[in-house]
Amino acid sequence: MSEEKSLNFIEEIIEADLQSGKYNSISTRFPPEPNGYLHIGHAKAICLNFGLGLKYGGKTNLRFDDTNPVTEETEYVDSIKADIRWLGFTWTDELYTSDYFDTLYRYAVDLINKGLAYVDDSSAEDIAALKGTPTEPGKDNQFRSRTIAENLTLFTDMKAGKYKDGEKVLRAKIDMTHSNMLMRDPIIYRIKHAHHHRSGDKWCIYPMYDFAHGQSDSIENITHSICTLEFIPHRELYDWLIDKLGIFPSHQYEFARLNMTYTVMSKRKLLQLVNEGHVTGWDDPRMPTLSAFRRKGYTAESIRTFCDKIGVAKRENFIDLSLLEFCLREDLNQKALRVMAVLDPVKLIITNYEEGNTEILSSENGPDEALGKRNLSFGKELWIEREDFMEAPAKKWFRLAPGNMVRLKSAYIVKCESFIKDAAGTITAIHCTYIPESRSGSDSSGISVKGTIHWVNAADAVTAEIRLYDRLFTSENPLGEAGDFKDTINPNSLQIITNGLVEPSLKEATAESRYQFIRKGYFCTDKDSSPTKLVFNRTVTLKDAWAKEVKKN
Ligand code: ATP
Ligand code: MG
Repeated sequence: MSEEKSLNFIEEIIEADLQSGKYNSISTRFPPEPNGYLHIGHAKAICLNFGLGLKYGGKTNLRFDDTNPVTEETEYVDSIKADIRWLGFTWTDELYTSDYFDTLYRYAVDLINKGLAYVDDSSAEDIAALKGTPTEPGKDNQFRSRTIAENLTLFTDMKAGKYKDGEKVLRAKIDMTHSNMLMRDPIIYRIKHAHHHRSGDKWCIYPMYDFAHGQSDSIENITHSICTLEFIPHRELYDWLIDKLGIFPSHQYEFARLNMTYTVMSKRKLLQLVNEGHVTGWDDPRMPTLSAFRRKGYTAESIRTFCDKIGVAKRENFIDLSLLEFCLREDLNQKALRVMAVLDPVKLIITNYEEGNTEILSSENGPDEALGKRNLSFGKELWIEREDFMEAPAKKWFRLAPGNMVRLKSAYIVKCESFIKDAAGTITAIHCTYIPESRSGSDSSGISVKGTIHWVNAADAVTAEIRLYDRLFTSENPLGEAGDFKDTINPNSLQIITNGLVEPSLKEATAESRYQFIRKGYFCTDKDSSPTKLVFNRTVTLKDAWAKEVKKN
């Protein structure tokens, strides 16, 4: 039985607009500023905009909001495109606000001609001083009454490069006493003598966000322009500009941005982490960027499911990282190949197994039969997990201990007979006997044991570096702390195991191959991995270790 999912508030608006005939079809857009890599918050906006386009058979543009010449780089443009594709979406058109610079300039001239914009020579401080406060109105200055002809000349001169940065601005002439501060003659063009990544040195004046954004929506005939809640006060200006220019009436709708616990989500803050070396790069698996999640082994499906589950809210809140991890485990449980890896090895020697003998066992690759089986070699000397042995076992200990029996996964039942310790008290070897009739798949031993442990064959196990990640911050809300957000960086967010041992089938693993290391968690091959040096990232543990931790405390 399929459950009918209720519409979110934006879908309700769209369905009403389509029903009333306001629009025949819808258009949305995703408008990133190319000043950093996309993070999980952007995934929410991407899933929403592209999802609506797909659901209603409309178009969804990718528009690079590149009005700020100083911060934008081609590297970011490329990474943004790669991330959207990876998430599984395809845009209708790839567009750049900078391609509209000529049109936007004409719009500005149009406003001047209508007596709705003026050139202001005031300094930033003077403009701020006359702006008023939320409770006090602002005041007009002497430049506000410039004639249309004078404004046209000055604006042309601004464009021609006659003035230095900050010497003049173009402002919309609205109302200095308006109750909405953003309507008190907002700046719409500023002078910036800077090279732009696409338009080069053609321009030395650049439109402000508010003047470019709605106009770009309109140029592209975007019907539903979706943005985050902080833009609510901008909507009035968005509508005013479209109305005065008499251009296609796009409409803005706002939803709550995605905030997540134990991380920060602003590109500027993330850039600081990169530049100051707190992480190895934008795709460091501890970052909340999409490239980091991908490198760490997350699936695009799990991120899409997560965005769908959290829904589209009108009020800001914090979503727990464990919800994303839940979606991930559900997906990886279906997909990840089961293999054996030992993270903290100790030797297990089967004293009654013939020296030099090797046999080939078969082990299933996963719970789904379609994943097939693979061969594993088995011999006299194996490596097992140190924590699977206890010298003096606790109650209900079903793993190895003197006199205890366990099953070696996909192999035999063994019984611990003795163990060897070095001078420092570290156990260096565990001696067992095995039950030849207990082979998995053809067990006629009649013995049943409660514990099954994983192992690798010492004869062919491959050494691997295994990187274990934890949250990057110890604070649930690093930006909400009194000091600098970086004060709460988790000093133990990365643990590197250099002497892990994995079964030889992993030698062929290519980057981003995903596995479940049986009993240890989900792992994926890192991009640093090579046939001579295997490197795996822990994607996520099998269970939520933090939830347990919280309960304990
Ligand atoms: P940042 O502060 O991280 O730079 P931004 O809003 O400046 O974020 P943009 O590149 O301008 O980043 O954002 C592109 C789109 O993604 C915008 O429509 C924006 O509203 C949306 N977006 C950004 N962050 C989030 C978030 N945390 N949750 C949902 N949508 C977001
Ligand atoms: Mg921005």
